[in-house]
Amino acid sequence: MAAGSKRKASSENNNGESENGTKKKTIQTTKTEEEEEEEENDEGETKETFCNNPIGFQFKVLHTDGRARYTNLTLPHYDCFTPMFMPVGTQGCVKGLTSMQLEEIECQVILGNTYHLGQRPGKDLFLECGGLHKFMSWKRGLLTDSGGFQMVSLADLSDVTEEGVTFQSPIDGKSEMLTPEKSMEIQNAIGADIIMALDDVVSSVKISKERFEEATHRTTRWIDRCIKGHKRPKEQALFGIVQGGLDDRLRDISLKGLLKRGKDLPGFAIGGLAGGEGKEDFCRVLESALPKLPFNKPRYVMGIGYPIDIVICTAFGGDMYDCVFPSRTARFGNALVPEGTLRLKQAQYKTDERKVQDDCDCVCCLNYTRKDLNKIAGKETEASIVLTYHNLRYLMRLCKQMREAIEKKTFKAFCVEFTKKLYSLEKGVPKWVVDAFAKVDIDVST
Ligand SMILES: [Zn+2]
Repeated sequence: MAAGSKRKASSENNNGESENGTKKKTIQTTKTEEEEEEEENDEGETKETFCNNPIGFQFKVLHTDGRARYTNLTLPHYDCFTPMFMPVGTQGCVKGLTSMQLEEIECQVILGNTYHLGQRPGKDLFLECGGLHKFMSWKRGLLTDSGGFQMVSLADLSDVTEEGVTFQSPIDGKSEMLTPEKSMEIQNAIGADIIMALDDVVSSVKISKERFEEATHRTTRWIDRCIKGHKRPKEQALFGIVQGGLDDRLRDISLKGLLKRGKDLPGFAIGGLAGGEGKEDFCRVLESALPKLPFNKPRYVMGIGYPIDIVICTAFGGDMYDCVFPSRTARFGNALVPEGTLRLKQAQYKTDERKVQDDCDCVCCLNYTRKDLNKIAGKETEASIVLTYHNLRYLMRLCKQMREAIEKKTFKAFCVEFTKKLYSLEKGVPKWVVDAFAKVDIDVST
């Protein structure tokens, strides 16, 4: 990293305390600030760190196998185990599924979208009814994003300045500004167990280097405004988000900025990926960034929903994932199975009497054949519902299988087996997958 950028990062972060700064200062008072920064980055292994956690929030790494972790994340509303996948409920519910069905498939946490929830039903209604948990009769964990993701997905409708992001509402065309303070205010009203800092997120593939540099430093400045604006730190855990696009130097600057504020951040996320960048870049950034996050805090990789990505990220040391993909692809008539994706609208399924997945215990697999689904896939709501149910059940089971493999120290063999099956109907395992696993000493090439 260039000395100039390091100084820039440290001068911007001078309000923050190092996560284990207090401890270091008592034992080695002669270290310079730069030496301390270097040391802090060492594997990110922060031990016995003090953190202002919400009441009832706890995190414990139960087992490790290589870099993969099986952890227990206790949230105010639910006791979770990771690796875990969190389905996305855009308007306060996962499309097509009831809260009871989500419990049936062993879903632990649902992700709510702050921007959409803030627009409809709106902050005041949440304050009135006592938060999103009550609003959607969901007793388990909830996580809300900051609204920042909409900067990418509604990019042509948004304008980012130091103060915040100005949106043109897609509903009524009115201009509205989302600031770090406003994001906290809405997320405090929604009342999720985990809330996310507002970051200046830019698409990993489209924007110039200068824009990434600006966004990285702005995200660090905004985290202080988020910490200050967060009014329920005893009830909701604020996670910081590492940004920096595909640039290792910017990722490191972003990470250091967050680590210095570690006592106010019970968890960390990696953002700005899974936006269409090459798979090699995606794996390079995550393999490098994940082990630098503190060992004793949850690590959330945002926007990840392809089964192969979930397994690779877990091998790199990730804990939590979310994506609209499994439910969206279900609405197009596609089912996730160990051998890949069944595109049930295709003619080959017209006479296929088999279940979607032989060893699946879900409502879809117990009651429908591929032939039944071929008739209604992509057309009838019924197909969207049962396929969403199956796809989410598949991912919950995949995460559980990974936890069991990590506990038994057979995670490597699990990855080999999983990969072999996933690409069994294709020409072989893609090079990027072989290379990704090779980074953590897992050979899936044969
Ligand atoms: Zn099923």
